[in-house]
Amino acid sequence: MRFTFFEDFLSLVFPKTCCVCKRSLFVFENQLCKVCIGSLPITNYHQRPQNNELSLKILGLTKPNLVISFLQFTKKGTSQKLLHQLKYRNKPEIGVELGRIYGHILSEWGFGSHWDYIIPVPLHPIKLKRRGYNQSEQFALGLSEILGVPISRSLQRDQFTDTQTQKSRMERLENVANVFSVRYFDEIKGKRILLVDDVMTTGATLTSCANSLLMAGAGTVDLAVIAAGK
Ligand SMILES: [Zn+2]
Repeated sequence: MRFTFFEDFLSLVFPKTCCVCKRSLFVFENQLCKVCIGSLPITNYHQRPQNNELSLKILGLTKPNLVISFLQFTKKGTSQKLLHQLKYRNKPEIGVELGRIYGHILSEWGFGSHWDYIIPVPLHPIKLKRRGYNQSEQFALGLSEILGVPISRSLQRDQFTDTQTQKSRMERLENVANVFSVRYFDEIKGKRILLVDDVMTTGATLTSCANSLLMAGAGTVDLAVIAAGK
């Protein structure tokens, strides 16, 4: 009883607010309010995972199987707001919650049995230390929780790359060509992998990871991101 009282007291002094609209959250809400969840810019790529803007974008770069994005990325839109807080405002919980919401959608569409492992795109240890968490791994944690698919950490980042934002498409592809390697071959051999990242812009990072996994013997590699732009 006293614990509940204390929690109520805390929520009066420091109310938990929705990370999109800033309204106070109910106790059963987590990070986002129901209204904002209902108006998320969902892509519905999971309804045509082999034929959408993203799968076409990486055609020729890797052997794409299923390519999906939870949200449509728009500048100054909800997805940018969420990603900004996830990456730069020390809000790893947003990634987990988005993973859970997407996990429920994918589960409804029967994706639960599609994968043996979920693999987040790794951050370089230096960057990981600086941020304190890997945002892609947070998203993977939420997906894993709902879909019941374990996370594998068999992919590692060997080199530190500069920020990709000022680079051309070709430069980005070259920049990450040999950045990733596989450390637990037995774990991924013949397996169906869901590789996840926070955003896809040119697809350079994801295709580099996917190719490393395929070369190391993975059966199939599907790609999922929190948000992707056109
Ligand atoms: Zn809201």
